[in-house]
Amino acid sequence: MIIPLFLPQQGCPDRCIYCNQEGLTGAKGLPRPDDIDETINKYLESYKGEDPQADHEIAFYGGSFTGLPDGVQEKLLSLAHPWVGRRGIRGLRLSTRPDRVNGKTVARLKAYGVATVEVGAQSMNTQVLENIDRGHGPAATVQAVQLLKQEGIKVGLHLMTGLPGDSEATSLSSLLECLWLKPDFLRIHPTLVLKGSPLEQRWRSGEYAVWSLGKTLRLLTQMALLCAQQGVPVIRWGLMPGELCVNSCLAGPYSPSLGEWVRRSVAFHYVLAMVAAFEKESRNFCLKSETFDDAMQLLIPPQDLSLVHGHKRWLLRHMYGISSLKICQAIPSTAAGPVKPGLPLHGNWALASGGKSIFIFTQEEYIANWRI
Ligand code: SF4
Repeated sequence: MIIPLFLPQQGCPDRCIYCNQEGLTGAKGLPRPDDIDETINKYLESYKGEDPQADHEIAFYGGSFTGLPDGVQEKLLSLAHPWVGRRGIRGLRLSTRPDRVNGKTVARLKAYGVATVEVGAQSMNTQVLENIDRGHGPAATVQAVQLLKQEGIKVGLHLMTGLPGDSEATSLSSLLECLWLKPDFLRIHPTLVLKGSPLEQRWRSGEYAVWSLGKTLRLLTQMALLCAQQGVPVIRWGLMPGELCVNSCLAGPYSPSLGEWVRRSVAFHYVLAMVAAFEKESRNFCLKSETFDDAMQLLIPPQDLSLVHGHKRWLLRHMYGISSLKICQAIPSTAAGPVKPGLPLHGNWALASGGKSIFIFTQEEYIANWRI
């Protein structure tokens, strides 16, 4: 569990044009010492997990932690650090911007038990970074990641899509540059127009046009598969859904279940690739797909069933007309194999007839054969 302590836009030299952390988090300024203990206790008491030695982290989110004055950083870290090692809290975590990471700050983070730093890369395209008034270039991200990794601190990178001047190609090349840095995980956020952000004015004047959800989902599916090829997990797609997010968002590709849609889209392409491979094999062995046609199922990990049956069986409905196979439902598999790191599915999927597996198409085969 992550226990968030918000410090909206604190430590930031300027405001990036899409940002309105106060609107998103409902917080203002720095957390007070009492708030820190109170928030941590509240989260620990509400924790329903079974493992008493759970992997909790206390996270300073919503600003540029390492951009705060040295004394403020020391103060906040010294208030949170005594919790490390108690009640399942493994370490501290924080988010920051790449141009506020240097050798001195990294040494301080290390000394206070900071286990994970989330670095806001947002884009690796120089022009896009200029367009959003980011105030640093891609080299700052490269350097920040290297410094943190050298000290054994886990690194997560934040990327955005649909920023002003962005395209699908620049988003994908930004992702590839981030993957080359071998982060431990990514968060990928489509750009939304948030109330009170500088982007709101550009959007209202027609200078900025939001991306559609469909275009965004197509891109995120490709990004998910690129991450899977490199074995890097994406721990969040889009902003945390919730009342504050809904109230803050004026326009853009918002969905409260964006992550589920990305997983469903990845699963859809998995099934398409599996059917194509099955049909090829059937041709090779002179089998007619009609041999199996009236009782085809997907045999999949139980955790993935909602991807097939959810949203009014979207996945199966979209298979009709594309495939000659009639796949009528998904059934849970007890032998789906290991989870492929980075792929947002829970094991191998197979085609079944009469409830019995007839063709396994592994996640490895899917990922190895996938091309943009
Ligand atoms: S650095 Fe992060 S928190 Fe600060 S203004 Fe930019 S996006 Fe917002």
